[in-house]
Amino acid sequence: MTLAKPELASFEPIEVDFSEHRVLDRFSDDELAEINQQLETAHPTEILRWADEAFGDRLIQMSSFAIDGMAIFDMFWKINPKARLATLDTMRLFEETYDLMDRIARRYNTEVEVHYPDIREVGRMIRQHGMNLFYKGVDNRKLCCEIRKVNPLNKALNEADAWITGLRRDQGMKRGNIEIIQKDFAHDAYKVNPMANWTAEMIREYVIENKVPYNILHDKGFPSIGCAPCTRAVQPGEDERSGRWWWESDPDAKECGIHTVAPAG
Ligand code: SF4
Repeated sequence: MTLAKPELASFEPIEVDFSEHRVLDRFSDDELAEINQQLETAHPTEILRWADEAFGDRLIQMSSFAIDGMAIFDMFWKINPKARLATLDTMRLFEETYDLMDRIARRYNTEVEVHYPDIREVGRMIRQHGMNLFYKGVDNRKLCCEIRKVNPLNKALNEADAWITGLRRDQGMKRGNIEIIQKDFAHDAYKVNPMANWTAEMIREYVIENKVPYNILHDKGFPSIGCAPCTRAVQPGEDERSGRWWWESDPDAKECGIHTVAPAG
């Protein structure tokens, strides 16, 4: 498949003025629609190759080190051995996830970019609401996600024009409508969703076939992996995200906020 290589706009790398949408001006809506049309049936590797050419070192993969992210990074690294891999260390992750970070760093000879929450914000939150505040209501849980995930992500994306996610359409809810390449107005960046059309089974097959290191929690009934206090194993046949914030009743609330798409303008 041949895609026109986009012109790279010049930009100031650190401070992002969200009101001007400078990065998001790189492609018009019509151009983006055409790109998405061409990439709709492309293999994730082709999507990643396009993104690597389009955004260069301003492209970053954000991963929670779940299996989808590991499959993506294997493909991304094979395209570009300097592929950037970043994660949000909420300081409440599973030990198995930290182990995997070390294994990935060794296997690909790469340095994982780890972003931490502001420790003063964490301290203030704990003093006001307690260590395990997330069990005391959705507002508390969202506050914790905001401080430990959303705010660090905002800082991480100051160093990127585009970020790669592991979102899939078959995960349902708001994820059912994602585009392959979409505008992320909240961060003045493009979001690249190479696995949009893949299934969990296709990802697992890729990982096994290519001997990609993955989190051993996936073999213990965890289809989705997040923070330790907020993730549990699920029964066969249960929705893959049902183990996240399982004590909350509203299925539409089962997002931490990092994939919220802010409206344009
Ligand atoms: S998933 Fe749980 S521990 Fe992690 S940031 Fe959100 S509320 Fe806090």
